[in-house]
Amino acid sequence: MSDYLVRAIAKEPGVRALVCVTTDLVREAAQRHGTSPTVTAVLGRTLTAGVLAGALLKVQQRVALKFEGNGPVRKMIVEADSYGRVRGYAAEPEVDRPFVNGRPDLVGILGQAGLLTVVKDVRLKDLVEGVVPLATSDIAGDLTYYLEQSEQIPSVVEIGVVVTEEGEVEMAGGLLIQSMPPYDTGTLTLLVDRIQELPPVEDLLRTGQAPEDILALLFQDISYMQLERRELRFNCDCSRERGEKALLMLGREELEHLLETEGQAVIDCHFCHERYVFDAEDLQEVLAALD
Ligand code: ZN
Repeated sequence: MSDYLVRAIAKEPGVRALVCVTTDLVREAAQRHGTSPTVTAVLGRTLTAGVLAGALLKVQQRVALKFEGNGPVRKMIVEADSYGRVRGYAAEPEVDRPFVNGRPDLVGILGQAGLLTVVKDVRLKDLVEGVVPLATSDIAGDLTYYLEQSEQIPSVVEIGVVVTEEGEVEMAGGLLIQSMPPYDTGTLTLLVDRIQELPPVEDLLRTGQAPEDILALLFQDISYMQLERRELRFNCDCSRERGEKALLMLGREELEHLLETEGQAVIDCHFCHERYVFDAEDLQEVLAALD
């Protein structure tokens, strides 16, 4: 099952639902950043949270989630858009914690105290920013808390990433259910009860239930409509051209210094770890472009 997200609404009770599988993109992020098993679990959850937050946006809008905590991973930043593209990184990808009862120690790696900052580019003059303290440090609970506190929308988020102690990603995915105006929360409460009765989302996916099946399990007798099925992927918009622009911004003096001391410039993209090497000849060309 490759990565995708389904979006559905139940018009009558006013509920929207998103269910996604993100195994491939979590694997790709782990491979690109060389993350430890525990960071793979927490970054994988953060990427999945980004996918879900991105799917709430309108076209051309973007969202960034920044988790900062007092644990060893320090910080994770994920960016997503409404087209199913997501990218992200951890400040300390290689730190690790021993598994507890066979599960990654999420709270231990992110820390109990910290902040979740959500920045949305909704194509207006100013960015929209919301900050909440970390509520659970397991990513899903923190995103739920942000949606309820900062956006004032009754919501529930569940995210699961199954990682072995060797760091292999077996399954990743998540779901988000949200009340829509006029916010009659009775149905949401009923759905939250159903989620709690069902196995965790990652176990449902692991036993072969597709996101569409999970929607059906959730809604049961409630009439709903599936609106969309969207492919998801780890995607970064960095490029050699952008790297060149960044070099131009350094200015003549800094570039000449780089040329003399290093003989080259290496731009390593934070988000995807792609490396762009500019050798002496390339740097001469950038310098010439400054004239
Ligand atoms: Zn990149």
